[in-house]
Amino acid sequence: MDLELKPLALPGMTERPLIIAGPCSAESEEQVMCTAKQLAAKGYKMLRAGVWKPRTKPGGFEGHGEPALPWLQQAKAETGMMICTEVATPRHVEAAMNAGMDLLWVGARTAANPFAMQELADSLQGIDVPVLVKNPVNPDIELWIGALQRINRAGIKRLGAIHRGFSSFDAKMYRNQPMWNIPIELHRRYPELPILCDPSHIGGRRDLIAPLCQQAMDMGFDGLIVESHCDPDKAWSDAKQQVMPDVLEFILDHLTIRDHNEVTEDLMTLRKQIDSVDGDLLDLLTRRMRISREIAEYKKRHQMAVVQSSRYTEILDKRGAQGALCGIASDCVKTIFEAIHAESVRQQMEIINK
Ligand code: PEP
Ligand code: MN
Repeated sequence: MDLELKPLALPGMTERPLIIAGPCSAESEEQVMCTAKQLAAKGYKMLRAGVWKPRTKPGGFEGHGEPALPWLQQAKAETGMMICTEVATPRHVEAAMNAGMDLLWVGARTAANPFAMQELADSLQGIDVPVLVKNPVNPDIELWIGALQRINRAGIKRLGAIHRGFSSFDAKMYRNQPMWNIPIELHRRYPELPILCDPSHIGGRRDLIAPLCQQAMDMGFDGLIVESHCDPDKAWSDAKQQVMPDVLEFILDHLTIRDHNEVTEDLMTLRKQIDSVDGDLLDLLTRRMRISREIAEYKKRHQMAVVQSSRYTEILDKRGAQGALCGIASDCVKTIFEAIHAESVRQQMEIINK
C-alpha cells in the first residue's frame, strides 16, 4: 500500500455516514450564519462553504476570498461546528489554516493538475489537518491516486477522497457522470481510504440528491458532502442543486444504512454458486478462443484480414439486443463483447503473423 493513512479522527463524527454540509459558497455573513445555525440545530458537525470558487468561465461569482473567512470562524465560534473549505493554492492553505479550518478539501479542477497538486502538497508540509481530495474532472483514476499520493507524501495521513462525478460532453441526466466503477476501484486498491460522495455536484439537481445518497451508502461509501443553503433559490452559485437544512435532514433521515458485513452460511452457499458459474464462463471463453484461433488459420490460408468490421458490428448488435431481453444493460453486454473481441483479435494476430 503506497498511502500511509490514519483515521480522519473528526470529533463527534464516528458514525457512518460522516456528514459535511453547507453552502456551495460563503456569500455573506448572514447567509453563512443562518445556514450554520440551522445545520448545527439538526446535529450536523462539519460546515462546508467555498471561499475561493474555481469557475469554468470568468464572470461568475468567484468567491469573496479571504474576507469570507471570518464568517466561517464566527459560525464555528457560535455553533460549535467544525469548518472546512476548498483550497487550490499555497496562499489559500495559509489563510485557511490561520482561520482555524478543521479540514480542507481540494477541488476537481485542481486535482486534475499535477503542478497545482504538488504546490499544494509542498505548502501542507508540517501541517496536521485532514485533507479530502475530489476526483479530477476527467475519469482518470491514476490522476486521482497521484493527487492523493502527493498530499500523503507531504505528511498528511488523515486523508480521504470525495467522489463528485466526471465531466462529460453529452448532457445526460447527471451534471457529472457518476461512473461508480472508479470510486469502487479506488476502494478496492485502498480499503483504508475513506471515500465520501458529493451527490450535489454529481446530480446537479435537488431531486437527485436523495437517490444518489442512497446509492453511495449501498456501495459502502463512508460519508456524504452535501450542499445546503438557508435560501437555495437565491444562491449565488449552484442554486439548482442546493437544499434547505430541513430538506437535507429529511433526506438523510430516510437513508437505509446497511452496515452488516457478516458472511453467513446462506451467503457462502450463494457465493459458491457464483464461483461455479464464473468457472463455466471461463470454460466457455476458452472454447470460444479455440474456435477463434481455428478461424485465424482459415483467414491466414485465404489471405483474409483479421478484423472484419461488419462481422464485429453484427456480434455487438446481436448480443446487445439479447442482453436487453435478458434484463442485462446493453451497454454492459457491449463492454463484455468488446473485451472478448479484443482478446480474440490479439490471439488471431499471433497466429497470422507466425
Ligand atoms: C464545490 O464543492 O463547490 C466545488 C466547486 O466542487 P467541484 O470541485 O467538485 O466542482
Ligand atoms: Mn458547488
